[in-house]
Amino acid sequence: MRRTVIAGNWKMNKTNQEAVEMLHQLKKEVAGISEVDIVIGAPFTCLSDAVKETVGSNIKIAAENVYPKSSGAYTGEISPKMLKAIGVEYVILGHSERREYFQESDEFINEKVKAVLAEGMTAILCIGEKLEDREAGKTNMVNETQLRGGLAGITKEEAANIIVAYEPVWAIGTGKTATPELAQETHAKIRKVLVSLFDKVGEEMTIQYGGSMKPENAAELLAQKDIDGGLIGGASLEAKSFAEIVKAGR
Ligand code: PEP
Repeated sequence: MRRTVIAGNWKMNKTNQEAVEMLHQLKKEVAGISEVDIVIGAPFTCLSDAVKETVGSNIKIAAENVYPKSSGAYTGEISPKMLKAIGVEYVILGHSERREYFQESDEFINEKVKAVLAEGMTAILCIGEKLEDREAGKTNMVNETQLRGGLAGITKEEAANIIVAYEPVWAIGTGKTATPELAQETHAKIRKVLVSLFDKVGEEMTIQYGGSMKPENAAELLAQKDIDGGLIGGASLEAKSFAEIVKAGR
């Protein structure tokens, strides 16, 4: 059975105190929900207290990035081992903002995926086309390239700990959501690639949609056959709106 996973991506938002306050409220909003896996991606500075605030609850904590080495002379970087040691369970990788602003390549993202899995955490691998790709009819090609690159050398067993987040770049933070039909069409293509790589495991992998998902459109998107969750930016910053999306996924 595919798990529905609703994950927030706070990006570079919230001080530690704001993070703890939000999570305190979110715990109450989503108490008792077990049909959906609930994840919050927070900045590095909030992670330790975020884990402490949510321990024993149904909320899991994600980092938004990692460096693919376990230790060493990499000034300013954070390793998977460090994240694991404080109780982080998921890591968001290859977000379009990291691809765009930090020139992350599929090869580098692939190293990160492997490093995260090696520590026993779950990788959320983000892929998605830009507007010019879609307009040029290259959507499926771009997604397939990012998928095959990010997942190179991954075994079926490892794939079971990977979530794919399809995020059309033109829909991120723009208020423009892909229609449920358009998103489903692309998710089905992504599913095909996953099945070609991992057979049955590919059928079971969670594919999240991301890009201006909000309480008003979540239910319709999540009702699609191959949309198994959401990665949510803006609407994850407030406990109430994020909880409404979680409830739409039940
Ligand atoms: C994101 O950044 O992953 C995202 C989907 O953002 P938003 O929901 O704000 O479009």
